[in-house]
This record gives sequence, structure tokens and C-alpha cells, in this order.
Amino acid sequence: MGLAHGRWRGPVFALVCWLVGSFALSGTAQRNPVSSSPVYPGKSIGDFYDRLAGDLKQGKPLVVTVYVALCDNASQGIVRTKNPRICQGDHPERNLYWASSGGLMGHLRTQPWKRVLYRPSATDKIAITGVWTRRFRPGGALAKRGVSGRFPVYVVGLGYRGTEIHGAMVDYLKAVSGDRPEIIDIDGQTTIQFGGGAHIVGYVGHDYFMDVRDEASLLSHTRGQTTLHKGVFGLACHSDNYFRPAIQRRTNHILALNTQLTFPSAFTVLGIIRAVAAGKDHRGIHREAARAFAKGQRQTVRTMLRALSYGDKPLTEDGPHDQVEVVCRQQWGAKPMTRSYRDHHIHRITLHHQGVRHTSAQNTAERLKKMQQYHQSETVGFNDIAYHFIIDPNGGVYEGRPFNAVGETQTDYDPTGHLLICLLGDFDEQTPTKPAIEALTKLSTWAVQAFDTDVETIQGHRDHTEGTCPGSNLYRLIQEGTLKARVRELASSQRMELHIRCEPEI
Ligand SMILES: [Zn+2]
Repeated sequence: MGLAHGRWRGPVFALVCWLVGSFALSGTAQRNPVSSSPVYPGKSIGDFYDRLAGDLKQGKPLVVTVYVALCDNASQGIVRTKNPRICQGDHPERNLYWASSGGLMGHLRTQPWKRVLYRPSATDKIAITGVWTRRFRPGGALAKRGVSGRFPVYVVGLGYRGTEIHGAMVDYLKAVSGDRPEIIDIDGQTTIQFGGGAHIVGYVGHDYFMDVRDEASLLSHTRGQTTLHKGVFGLACHSDNYFRPAIQRRTNHILALNTQLTFPSAFTVLGIIRAVAAGKDHRGIHREAARAFAKGQRQTVRTMLRALSYGDKPLTEDGPHDQVEVVCRQQWGAKPMTRSYRDHHIHRITLHHQGVRHTSAQNTAERLKKMQQYHQSETVGFNDIAYHFIIDPNGGVYEGRPFNAVGETQTDYDPTGHLLICLLGDFDEQTPTKPAIEALTKLSTWAVQAFDTDVETIQGHRDHTEGTCPGSNLYRLIQEGTLKARVRELASSQRMELHIRCEPEI
């Protein structure tokens, strides 16, 4: 599906974008257009702090990876900066995005950070690699999770040659989707995991999405599937508009994107890091990032609050879209998995029923808790509830195991690559309700789009093994083709989004 209908792109933006960049370097205040409040609180940031606190308590450092596409008049520039020396993409030492007062190295140099590695390369696509560290005192969500004592933070900055902006964006997108965990040896004693293994992954540079014609090929680098929660930022002109289709996902917590034509400032990067170390929630991180951004740009905090967005937002304001509301695990009272998941890539959809009578008057959360308890029992031995999604007769959709984790079965087919959807009820005896079918149609539409699978892969459990699951009255919908026809129609006319809802708490 096209993701970019109606968005402005091309030289006009890029031109203004460059001008803002060069003004910012000389310290001239900007008059930015003021848009409406860019706040889209989607999911709780608590999952991110759970992962981070767990690592810190094991003595691991907080790792931030910043992909910097060095500014380059010759290969990226539509309009040249007034001072051509600051936009030569092979020269990090005087580059706007690396060495200026608002560049990553330039700003870190003025702060109490210690540089522990600095490796220029004359030939690689990455012209300069720098690693800096300092210790922070834990606060807020981290302190609440039992992190005590000062802990180390490492910033791994990768400065890509100007001509390699494509590579910078691809590596960023891969890391954002959990691919490319990489190891760097600092001093022969300390190794740290960065890239896809980092806690926070960010991009600084020109908004390359504005230049590419083939957005789909860029998006194809976001297929990595991970269960690790990450903080993500992208500092580039109008990244709020351009980056989201590539970076919004279940395990990513968007900490900052630019809503305007603004300089991708390292002040913002350090503001984000300080706020995360202090265990702040989304609002607190937004505030701290805006405060730092404002200082760097000599602007008011109020203006910069509007220039930065965070959280998830519906992706297609400019096209027809609908959404599937999903009740998150915590909300229905799920227990954690008992052992780790096995990752897979979804390529088909398989429908089940529970095979136990369930009506719209019954309590779904209680039923799900019992189902999970049974699945995790010694008798069955699954690590979690078997399915990825569960639908009740009221049309409620409930989050099961993460969809990038292979499901479970007691029968003899291999569920690797299958998205498992289970409808509550016994459809050899009951008939699926209208709301349940409607929810199933929307959820299947989302899956077909999200995993780029064929509608024909929607099948019933019984198509893969013995037994009657998902019950003859539900199976009929698949067999007669009515479900597939409806999904095909919906998928071709609009974009379906998945909203996993949780009570806001950290
Ligand atoms: Zn089944």
C-alpha cells in the first residue's frame, strides 16, 4: 500500500531545510510555523523501562546509538549552505551535524562526557565512529524498578559520509526494527552492544525520505522482528510525517520526532538521554528534550514543545484508514511468559476456536486468564497463551503472545510463520457473532497488510492437521470464501492499523 499520499516532498522542503540548518549554526533565532500540539500517547513506556532496568541491574550500561548522516552539499544538497566547508560529507571534523556546536561530537565535547573511542576511517561508508560515556543517577521509573547507584551510559555515534546517506538510513531502520545488533570493543576490556541491540536508537541528519522515490524499498529494511523494547528518535526535517510508517511498532517507544523544518540538534539528543536516565515518562522526556532543543536554538521551550512529537499516532490522516483496538495483556491480567519465545516471520494466518462454549455475557478476562494458566501448566507446557490474538463474542480483540513469537499447538503441525487467531466459543455448536466476525475481518486485514501476506493464506486449523478446529460454523466462512472476499475488499480500500491499548502507567 502506498504510504505517502499527499505528503509534500522534494526540493522545496529540502531547500528550506538546509537554510534552517545553516542559520541554526550561526545562532540566528528561527521563527518556526506553529502547528497544533503534536502529542500522541499510544502505549505505556513502562515496557521500555522494564527492559532497561533489568539490564542496568545486571551491571550492563544504557547504550544509545546515533546514526548521523553527515551534511553534504554535493550529494544531498539542493541548495548549498552559505559556508560550503560545513557541508562536505567526507569531513566530519568540520561538519554541521558532527562538529558544530549543535552537532553530536561538537556538543558532547562541551559537556561532562568522556570520549572513550574515536576512530576515523578514510574509506568506509562510516567516516567517523565516536563513543562517549558518563554516569547518571537513576530516577523515576528506573528507581521505582530497583535501579540504585550511578550507572554508565554510552553514546555510540556513527558519522556516515554524505554520499552514504542511504546507508545511514538503512542501518538506522534495521536497528530500529531490531536487526543488526553489533558489538564494539572500547578498550580491550569493555564491549558494548549497539545498533539493534541498543536501548535507544536515533537518527540525525537530512530527511532522506524526502528524496527517495521508492519508499517501499526503504521500508523493506524494517522487517527485523524483535521482542526487545527500544526508545527511538529521528531528528530530521518533518520526520514526524516521514519516519512513522517505518518506525512505529509494538516494541518501539518514539521519544522524539521533528514536526517542523528544524535543525537536527544534538542538544535534543542529550536532553532525551538525561530524561531517560531520570526515568521520566513520555511527557517528561518530551519536556526535557524541548528544553534542551530550545537552549541550542535560542528559542522558547513552548515553541520547541510543538516542534517535537512523541508516541504513536494514526499513520494515514491523508488516506482512508480504520483501526483495530486491541486490549493489552496487562489489562486482561496476563502472566509473563515462562521461558523465552522463538522468533519467526509471519507469512500466513490460521484461525482457531477455543472449543469451549462462550457467550457475550461471560467475562473474557477471566476466561483468558484460565486459558493462559492451562497453557502454561505442566500438563500442556507452553511458555505462554498459545495464540497471538483472541476475539470474544462482543468483538473485543485481546493481545496474546507477541506476534513475532512462534505460537504453540498440541496437534502435529508446525505453527512457525503462522499468525494464530482464536475466537472464543465452540463453533461446532455455536455460531460466530456478527461483532466477532467484524473484528476478525479487520484483524485479518491488518495482518495481510502488516505482514504482506496473501489473503489466500487465511485458513483454519483443520486445514493443517486433524480435528474440527475452528468449528464447522466458523470454518464455513473460510471455505465459502466470504471472509477472504471481505478482507480483500477492505485491504484494497483502506489501511488498517493496530492500536494496542493499555492503561497509562509507568
Ligand atoms: Zn485450533
